[in-house]
Amino acid sequence: MDVSSLLDGLNDKQREAVGAPLSNMLVLAGAGSGKTRVLTHRIAWLMQVEQQSPYSILAVTFTNKAAAEMRERVENVVGSNMGRMWIGTFHGLAHRLLRTHYQDANLPQTFQIIDSDDQVRLIKRILKTLNLDEKQYPPRQAAHYINGKKDQGLRPKHIDAGGFPIEQNLLNIYKIYQESCDRAGLVDFAEILLRAHELWLNKPHLLAHYQERFKHILVDEFQDTNAIQYAWIRVLAGNSANVMIVGDDDQSIYGWRGAQIENLHKFLSDFPGAETIRLEQNYRSTANILNASNDLIANNPDRLGKKLWTEDKDGEPISVYCAFNEMDEARFIVGRIIDWQDKGGRLSDCAILYRSNAQSRVLEEAFLHKGLPYRIYGGLRFFERQEIKDAMGYMRLINNRDDDAAFERIVNTPTRGIGDRTVEIIRNTARQHQLTLWQACLRLLEEKVLAGRAANAVRNFIDLIITLKTDTEDMLLYRMTDSVIDRSGLRAMYEAEKGEKAQARIENLNELVTAARSFEMPEELEDMGELNAFLSHAALEAGEGQADEFTDAVQLMTLHSAKGLEFPMVFMSGVEEGIFPSKMALEEGDRLDEERRLCYVGMTRAMQKLYISYAESRRMYGREDYASPSRFIGEIPEKYVEQIRLRAQVSPSISQRFPSQASPSFGSGLGTSGPANSTGFTIGQKVKHFKFNEGIVTNFEGTGEKARIQVNFFDFGSKWLLVSLAKLEAC
Ligand code: ATP
Ligand code: MG
Repeated sequence: MDVSSLLDGLNDKQREAVGAPLSNMLVLAGAGSGKTRVLTHRIAWLMQVEQQSPYSILAVTFTNKAAAEMRERVENVVGSNMGRMWIGTFHGLAHRLLRTHYQDANLPQTFQIIDSDDQVRLIKRILKTLNLDEKQYPPRQAAHYINGKKDQGLRPKHIDAGGFPIEQNLLNIYKIYQESCDRAGLVDFAEILLRAHELWLNKPHLLAHYQERFKHILVDEFQDTNAIQYAWIRVLAGNSANVMIVGDDDQSIYGWRGAQIENLHKFLSDFPGAETIRLEQNYRSTANILNASNDLIANNPDRLGKKLWTEDKDGEPISVYCAFNEMDEARFIVGRIIDWQDKGGRLSDCAILYRSNAQSRVLEEAFLHKGLPYRIYGGLRFFERQEIKDAMGYMRLINNRDDDAAFERIVNTPTRGIGDRTVEIIRNTARQHQLTLWQACLRLLEEKVLAGRAANAVRNFIDLIITLKTDTEDMLLYRMTDSVIDRSGLRAMYEAEKGEKAQARIENLNELVTAARSFEMPEELEDMGELNAFLSHAALEAGEGQADEFTDAVQLMTLHSAKGLEFPMVFMSGVEEGIFPSKMALEEGDRLDEERRLCYVGMTRAMQKLYISYAESRRMYGREDYASPSRFIGEIPEKYVEQIRLRAQVSPSISQRFPSQASPSFGSGLGTSGPANSTGFTIGQKVKHFKFNEGIVTNFEGTGEKARIQVNFFDFGSKWLLVSLAKLEAC
């Protein structure tokens, strides 16, 4: 490919960045201005024009999906196999490094990654042995403390509790937690990064080797790097590598996880001669969407400040929909998507974004109801499901008997008579003698400490794992997986459970065998054994791309996981005070700016059409709440917005309440003027009660005598009433 075509499809500023002389560079620009495109083309440029080997390039992206996309895009541009180039996430690359140099990193070859659930389980165990109350030291908070310290590069020995008892206890938890992990050969996500950084610091010969190798380092989404990631890059780059980072301070959304926007400034002072290139043209969104986003983010203080413009036409206004409740909101969204599909649109071009994962359930129900395929991107993924983790627990223990997290998970799943008390004795023995749980079992059996039945049960469990290992050692991975699922008793357990849920779990277990069958050893992991590689793959990838990748499906995801992506049609749902901005952000105050950046990220995902919706009442986490529209909606100038409220067909009184917004044309698309019911009322209708006065009908349930109606009374809030007794009048 010749040079000119490498620069095709780029504007002047983008060309300047792609074709810059070898040096350090910061590309600072707003959403949709082509930062990722520049990064990709730069890699191609380095290879094609600067004649650099792919071997000398290290590219860091934010998700595995983005990494795969980048690899593909570069391959498209240069038309060759990029096998030897390191492209991945910080975690993926650091993990690869630890795998290769496990001895230098002081890890057993079979070390495994634990996720946040495993982490919490381990911490619970530690709290017990320390006699600390879970209420005073919630395990998740302790995990947050530990991860936070690791993200800052701090080991227990670096921390001074300053004589504060709570801090001292947290520090103790961290210390013992780390000792347990080390004994069991386990690393958590933060540990992967910390160890990879320590590898640089403690093993100069390794550092020298990689510094010699990686002459070009490129990082996307740099605004979301944390201290340890920054340090890792900084040390690796040394004084010789050329580092290109791209980022946008307005899209920094991981502050709560330790990301530091300041790293953008730090880069400029730490990397000599770094030049800043700004991109100002947006190629993604219509003018309405872009201008609205710009105006919203202008409410934040302390911005580096960027101007973004587009040649695109105004496009449609942003539609804001006020729903009665979360079900009405879901029906509205489904209605718009069906319209889109009827006009020939693809489902995968529609994305629904929400603030927290729990919001997806109602949407899922609505999609199931209409038979529309959907995919949850980054939600509860295949490898995170209970039954899969159970099966993997067995495989992990077969792989490494000292894996305490796996041991804890499966020791009594399915139940085999190893009760809580016995497990407690095992834990105490482990703690007392600095053993792993497996070793503690052996010791207890040898010393005949356990009572007869418990001892038998423990012996059977140990025997099971040992025979499973010997019997499956020479099997193909998928046969082994199948065998483990059978002989562990997991399949029988779920078969006995019956019901749809259990059936789904069995299907998932079967799918695991399929996954093992289609598992391909990544080249770089070839020396580590198939089982081990498969376990790492499961832990790392956690099924980012879901099983039915090839079906055209609506994409559901949190706002956080939408970063870097784009869709023709975007719905932002649940845009209510207390949800978005979140309650926590409202309470803590200083997090409001980050929520606004998240809103900016969400809005700028949209290419052609953006819907924003909120519900007046919402049932979530088993509670019903009333909310007002998010302040962010108010921050979007009205000229870019079209308010959609209730259908004119619902009742005349509704159009009285919102005279300017009632839109008759909306009736058909929604088709949701309340589910069919026998009460004679419809959702959205204004009614009058002899005691509670006026309100709006928001829901129904039951039929006949038992029919109940939910009314949101203007003065008394929401109430469920028996229709037969309530004597409601339409008004
Ligand atoms: P984000 O901040 O959201 O990550 P970004 O700055 O990385 O956005 P890209 O994803 O690289 O932006 O580009 C946004 C869209 O604009 C993509 O569809 C990309 O292909 C397109 N694009 C970028 N530059 C140009 C250009 N010069 N001409 C035409 N299209 C472009
Ligand atoms: Mg990008």
